Amino acid sequence: MINFASLIQKNKKMKRNIIVNENFCPQNHPCPSTGVCPVGAITQKSPFSAPEINYSKCTGCGICTRSCMVFQCTNCLKKSV
Ligand code: SF4
Repeated sequence: MINFASLIQKNKKMKRNIIVNENFCPQNHPCPSTGVCPVGAITQKSPFSAPEINYSKCTGCGICTRSCMVFQCTNCLKKSV
């Protein structure tokens, strides 16, 4: 089980706005979200793994957060707390 609060803290320190919450990914199919990222920052090692974000490419645009609940915006969550 992922500690979501510590994941947010970790990503905040690294100035990452978008995180992958693996708790919401069944990890049993090819991730359709790999095709939604305009800069190709989302990859998946295998159909049985959660997608990953390449933070050197990610612009933080948030498009992926609208394609799947796995992708979450830490800034958005911060505003709602
Ligand atoms: S926030 Fe934008 S650039 Fe970053 S992974 Fe999601 S879709 Fe790609």
